[in-house]
Amino acid sequence: RAQQLLSLVSNPYSIDGHQLYCTVSAGITTFHSTKTTNIEVLRQADTALYRAKVGGKNNYVFYHPEMHAQVESVLEIERGLHEALKENQLELYYQPQVNEKHQIIGVEALIRWNHPEKGVLPPGVFMPIAEETGQILQIGNWIIERACFQYAEWKKQGVLPDTFCRVAINISPLQFSQDSFVEQVNSALKQAGISGKNIELEITENLLLENVEGSINKMEQLKENQLKISIDDFGTGYSSLKYLKHLAVDVLKIDRSFVTQLHLDESDQAIVDAIIMTAKRLNLDVIAEGVEDTDELSALKALGCHQFQGYLFDKPLPAEELVSRFKSNYYPLEEACNSTALRV
Ligand code: C2E
Ligand code: MG
Ligand code: MG
Repeated sequence: RAQQLLSLVSNPYSIDGHQLYCTVSAGITTFHSTKTTNIEVLRQADTALYRAKVGGKNNYVFYHPEMHAQVESVLEIERGLHEALKENQLELYYQPQVNEKHQIIGVEALIRWNHPEKGVLPPGVFMPIAEETGQILQIGNWIIERACFQYAEWKKQGVLPDTFCRVAINISPLQFSQDSFVEQVNSALKQAGISGKNIELEITENLLLENVEGSINKMEQLKENQLKISIDDFGTGYSSLKYLKHLAVDVLKIDRSFVTQLHLDESDQAIVDAIIMTAKRLNLDVIAEGVEDTDELSALKALGCHQFQGYLFDKPLPAEELVSRFKSNYYPLEEACNSTALRV
């Protein structure tokens, strides 16, 4: 019945000549004992509903008792995030990106939560919740301001190597969809006293395709301040090559899933080859994410990729640790370059 309800509601409605698409999420609980109070039944259904929404909406979920603890921990993170912003517990780490000579050409800002009891928490634990609750808007704004400020600071200190050209910032879907997004970015640039020339915004492809017209508009406005735009996790979403030519994109980031063990997987080699060729023809930069060993690096180089990011070079690091990396600006590696037989 839940499925029937979902299908029924998902039929488009026509109102005043506009097509409207609705979805519904449902939480379901069953009860046999008369001891369960009305309030408890409703609370259980609500808990299941919450799970259905967090799980991507347009779905139904049955309640089971373990869910209660899971929902409690989500609520705990939600409450904790309010504190985190107020108490300065959020921190941006930066992961170097390198060219084929292994010199630093940029960094990607990646958020961490220095939790007072749980230690350093990675974004996967709290960013999806922040997105769901809308807290991402405030956090996202802080991230942009913080990263722009950090770039301005490094510039002022004169520590950036000549090869350095960008600080990349991840942008969440909800954040990008705000009407005030461009204004927020511009105001962060202004506060930091920098142009957008060395700032790159990382956006995922699904996000762009949700509202192509709106995305094109926003990206063009961002370009007025010379900002760069990259497509994160490229190849994992509904990659629509058709839109690439309409969107003002500068960089494609090849997702880690294609890079892992690339030297051993012919299908991944074919995909990476296609991404690199597409980028070349469209005059875009390509960078490979999640490069963990020299075999993967050699395979990427053999396919014509010239920019890399991954644990092979560095993990994401606190801002102050970057300064020594900028100074040496080189990662000596034993490469397996000629020994890799690539069949593409
Ligand atoms: P992403 O933007 O695709 O970032 C790359 C992720 O891969 C990072 O995880 C990074 O630490 C990890 N990584 C880098 N090199 C390697 C490697 O060689 N091997 C492996 N196994 N992993 C590697 P992290 O920092 O946990 O971030 C996860 C995701 O959370 C990011 O994926 C991004 O989608 C989101 N995120 C992180 N920081 C922010 C932020 O400031 N704002 C927003 N909106 N999202 C963020
Ligand atoms: Mg990213
Ligand atoms: Mg990525």
